[in-house]
Amino acid sequence: MELKTRSRQRSLEFDIGELWDDLKRRLTAKDDVFDEDFDEEIHRWAQKWIEISKSDDEASKGFTHIDVYESASNLGFVGAGIQLAPNMARILDRLGCWADVEKEAVDLKETSIRQGSTDSELGHVDLLYIRKTYGCPHMVGHRSSLAGALYEACRREKAISFFFSTSAAGVNTFSPRPSFTARPRKGEPCVIEADVLVAADGVKSNVRAQMLQELGVDAEVSDSGQAAYRIMLRREEMEHDPELLHLIDSERVIRWIGEKRHIIAYPVSSKNIYNISTAQPDTNFAAAPSATYTTKASKSDMLATFSDYCPMIQCMLNLVPEGEVCEWKLRVHNPLPTWVHGAVALLGDACHPTLPHLAQGAAQAIEDAAVLGVVLSRMPDRSPDTINKSLRVYELLRKERAEKLVDLVAASGRALHLGEGAAKAERDRQFAALKEKKGAVPDKWADADVQKMIYGHDCMQVAQDSFDELFAKL
Ligand SMILES: Cc1cc2nc3c(=O)[nH]c(=O)nc-3n(C[C@H](O)[C@H](O)[C@H](O)COP(=O)(O)OP(=O)(O)OC[C@H]3O[C@@H](n4cnc5c(N)ncnc54)[C@H](O)[C@@H]3O)c2cc1C
Repeated sequence: MELKTRSRQRSLEFDIGELWDDLKRRLTAKDDVFDEDFDEEIHRWAQKWIEISKSDDEASKGFTHIDVYESASNLGFVGAGIQLAPNMARILDRLGCWADVEKEAVDLKETSIRQGSTDSELGHVDLLYIRKTYGCPHMVGHRSSLAGALYEACRREKAISFFFSTSAAGVNTFSPRPSFTARPRKGEPCVIEADVLVAADGVKSNVRAQMLQELGVDAEVSDSGQAAYRIMLRREEMEHDPELLHLIDSERVIRWIGEKRHIIAYPVSSKNIYNISTAQPDTNFAAAPSATYTTKASKSDMLATFSDYCPMIQCMLNLVPEGEVCEWKLRVHNPLPTWVHGAVALLGDACHPTLPHLAQGAAQAIEDAAVLGVVLSRMPDRSPDTINKSLRVYELLRKERAEKLVDLVAASGRALHLGEGAAKAERDRQFAALKEKKGAVPDKWADADVQKMIYGHDCMQVAQDSFDELFAKL
C-alpha cells in the first residue's frame, strides 16, 4: 500500500475557512456583501469544494496502491444469510456500497424469542425504533450481496487491485517494510513488499500464528464446543404451508431456544429465501478433529438434534433437501496480547473470532477496516515508526470494544442455552417482565442497552476525533 499526503485537501479547507470568516466579517460590518468580486470568489470556491467532494475516493484519502490477495478463486456463492446491523450499515453507506446491499435486504421490524418446544413467545422486541435512534436500519440480507457490493465498490477505486487464487504463504519480515510470499495457484511464488500489511485471513489466520510465534506468545484457537447448521429454504418450498408462508413474509427475526441449542431464522433476498442458522453442541467435528471448519452434514442428525422442537419447526427442517445440510464449526480464541507487530496488523476473525449469537462478527471486521482506513489516512508521514504508531492507534481504538463483544456474546449464548433449573427460571422471569416493558432482555442481541453500545458507536467518527491525541501519547 502506498500513501500520499493530504496537503492539497488541507490547504483548500484552510482557504475555504478564510473565505467563510471574510463573509461573516462583511455581514457584521454591513459591507456590500454581494459585490461582484466576492460573488465570483464564492462561486469559484464552491466549484472547488464540489470537485473535492466528488474526488473523495481512496486516492484523496491518501491511498494510491492497495493489493488484495485472496486464496479462493472468486468470491463465490456464499450460501447463507447475514444480519446487517446498523453499525455495519453506517460504514457501508459512507463507503458508497450500502445502496446495493439494501436493494434486496429485508428491513427488520421486530424480533421474537420463543420456546423451541412449543413455539410460545418468551419475549418480543420492536426493532423499528433502531432506524430513528441510530440513523441506520437493521436489515438482514444474503452474504453474496454483501460480498458482491463490497467487491464492486473496491473495483470502482483505481487504487485497488485483486489477486484471486493467490495465498499469502508466509510473512518474511514484519518491519521496517513488511514482506510476504504470495503463492498463486498457477505460477511461481513471489515476494511482495509493502508499507503496510493487513491480515484479514479469518479464524485460521496464518499471519496471526506467525506473529504470535515471533512474539513468543502461545494463543491457540480454542474450541467453543458449538457447531451451526446453515440452511436456506426457497419461497416455493415454503408457500404451500400457511404457517411457513407467514414466516417468510414477515420482517421478523425469530430465535427458538432450548437446552444447549437454538435456531435463528429470517427472510432474505427480497423475501425469496428463508435463512435458518442453528447452534448446537458440536459432536461431528469433535468426533473427527481436523482442520476442516465446514462439512456436509446428515439430515437425520439435524432432525434428531431438534426432535423435541415444535411441529412447525420439524416441518420446516424436513423441507431441507437431503445432501444440502451444511454444518460449521464455531471457533474462538483467547484475547491476543496484541493485533500489531511492526507494520503488520490483524483484522476481523483473525484477531477476534466471535460466536454468532450477537450477529456482530462481520460487523466488527468492517468496523476494524473502517477505523484502519481512518488512522492510515491521518498519518503525518509514512516512516516505519509512524506506520507502527498509527497501527497501534487502530488497536487502541478497536481491541477493547471487539473483545468486550466476544465476551458478551458468549454470556448471551449461555443464557439462551440454559437447561431446567433455577437459572432458567430466573431467565424466563426476565423474559416475562419484558411484557410489562421492564428490565433487560436475556437475549443480549435484542437488549436496548446492548444495542446502544453496539449500534450507537460511530467508530469512524471516534477515530477521526481521537487520532491526534492517541498518536501523540504513543
Ligand atoms: C453461523 C454463523 C453466523 C454468522 N452470522 C453473522 C451475522 O449475522 N452478522 C455478522 O456480522 N457476522 C456473522 N457471523 C460472523 C462472520 O461470518 C465472520 O465474523 C466474518 O466472516 C469474519 O470476516 P473475516 O473477513 O475476518 O474472515 P473470513 O470471512 O473468514 O474471511 C477470510 C478470507 O481470507 C481468505 N484467506 C484465508 N487465508 C488466506 C491466505 N493465507 N491467503 C489469502 N487469503 C486467505 C479466505 O479465503 C477468506 O476469504 C456469523 C458466523 C457464523 C459462523
